[in-house]
Amino acid sequence: MVNIETLVRKNIRELKPYSTARSEFAGEASVFLDANENPYNSPYSRYPDPMQRELKHAIAAQKNVAVEQILLGNGSDEPIDLLIRMFCEPQQDNIVAIAPTYGMYKVAADVNNVEYRKAPLNEQFDFCADDLLKVADSHTKLIWLCSPNNPTGNSLNRQEIVKTIEAFSGVVVLDEAYIDFSTHTTFLQDLHKYPNLVVLQTFSKAWALAGVRLGMAFAAAEIIATLSKIKYPYNISVLAQQHALQQILQRKDEVAQWVQTLLAERTKLQAALASLPCVQHIYPSDANFLLVKTTNANAIYNRLVGRGVIVRNRHSVELCAGCLRITVGTPQENATLLELLASDEMKTL
Ligand SMILES: *Cc1c(COP(=O)(O)O)cnc(C)c1O
Repeated sequence: MVNIETLVRKNIRELKPYSTARSEFAGEASVFLDANENPYNSPYSRYPDPMQRELKHAIAAQKNVAVEQILLGNGSDEPIDLLIRMFCEPQQDNIVAIAPTYGMYKVAADVNNVEYRKAPLNEQFDFCADDLLKVADSHTKLIWLCSPNNPTGNSLNRQEIVKTIEAFSGVVVLDEAYIDFSTHTTFLQDLHKYPNLVVLQTFSKAWALAGVRLGMAFAAAEIIATLSKIKYPYNISVLAQQHALQQILQRKDEVAQWVQTLLAERTKLQAALASLPCVQHIYPSDANFLLVKTTNANAIYNRLVGRGVIVRNRHSVELCAGCLRITVGTPQENATLLELLASDEMKTL
C-alpha cells in the first residue's frame, strides 16, 4: 500500500497553513467584525467560504462521493499546480505523463522546476502500464493520465489504468475533463480502493461554465486535506460558488441534453468530414471534439482563420502531424465549418 505521507514534500508536511477569519469562526452569527470587511454592498463585501461547504455538498450528492474527498480549484489548472507543489521537490523529483496529452501538465512542471518525462502513446493513442512504468524511477512522484485524452479524443484502456494505479508506488492523477461525453465510466466510485488515485474533473466542458473557472480534484481525504492546506484560502469567489451551486441544482437535465445534442452532432460532423478530399483520417472520439488528419494542416488552418473560423492546429504535436482538433459546436457552427472545408479553395491544399 502506498504511504501518502512519506511522498509529500517535507516543507508541505510541516506547513502551518494560514488561518483565515472565516475558518476560525464559520458558524451562524448576526454581527461579523472579524475580517476587516466593508459592511456595505452585501453579499460581495464578505469573503467567500474558504472550504466551499455548500457547493461541495451539492457536488458530493451529485457525484456520489464524500465532501472530504473534494477539492475545488480555479479551473483544473489550480489542482494540477497544487499536486506538483505538494509532492515534487524542485530539481529532484519528476513526473511522468502520457504523450501527447494536455499541455498544462508540462507548463505546471516547468513553472515548479520539476522534470517532466514523456511516455509515448502507441499508434492507437493508447498505452501499456509496463512501458509507462519503465519511464518512472525512484524520484517519480506523479503519473499523469488523461481519459478521454486531449488532443487525441480516445479513452485509455481501463485495465491498463488500473494496473498503473496498482503497480505505481506514487500518485496517479487521472484527468477526466471529458468524462461526461464518454462511454467509459468514471473512476470516482473506485477512489475508496486506491489511496494513491486523484481524479480531476471540471465545469468547463459538459457544464458549459469555462468562464466561471471551477475545477474539481477527487481523492482520499488524506490527499485532499493537504491540498486544502496549501491552496490560496479564498480561491473560489462568492460569484463562482453561488453560480455553480445554482447551476448544479437547476440545470442537471439541461446539461444531459446538451451532451446528447453534442454527441449526435459529433456523429454527423464525423460523417461529413470523412467525405472531404482534404480529410485523410478521423480518429475515434469519446469526447466533444474530433482529431482530424488532413492533407495540409497549416494551410487549412490559415484559410479557416481567414474566414473567421478557428480550430486548433495540432500539426506540431507528437504523433499528430497533419492534424487539426475540431471542437463540436452548434449545428450552425458545424455547418459553417463544413461548407468552408468543402469549398474549392480547400481542394487545392
Ligand atoms: C479543457 C481541459 C481541462 C479543463 O481545464 P479548466 O482549467 O478546468 O478549464 C482539463 N483537462 C483537460 C485535459 C482539458 O482538455
